[in-house]
Amino acid sequence: MDDCLFCKIINGDIPTDFIYQDEKIVVFKDISPQAPVHLLFVPREHIGSADDINQENSHLIGHIFEIATRLAKENNLIQGYRIVNNCKEHGGQSVDHIHFHLIGGRQMQWPPG
Ligand code: 5GP
Ligand code: ZN
Repeated sequence: MDDCLFCKIINGDIPTDFIYQDEKIVVFKDISPQAPVHLLFVPREHIGSADDINQENSHLIGHIFEIATRLAKENNLIQGYRIVNNCKEHGGQSVDHIHFHLIGGRQMQWPPG
């Protein structure tokens, strides 16, 4: 996707330090952190949103949770954390390439706004 911000980060057009990467996903720090730890987990494949998850690509979501919980431990988030996916307009999604936020290091509130 030529005009996709996260595809540009993944293919190196926008230089970004990857905290973690493998053949399926990249992980990098959110540019506008909402907590002491705020990482973004992004599949290399362009998938628009959680609404586009299907039998063929759902393995990526399990992989993201596996790596996210590993990185949560490495970041000492022993008191807990939040993994968030914002889906489409009402979900508050601002970048239309599916991603999950790992947010931690402070007390979270519920319900979200
Ligand atoms: P969304 O609102 O779609 O769930 O999350 C998109 C996230 O991407 C936001 O938290 C925003 O701060 C982050 N973001 C937007 N542009 C950039 C960028 O160029 N670099 C990085 N590292 N994060 C970005
Ligand atoms: Zn993309």
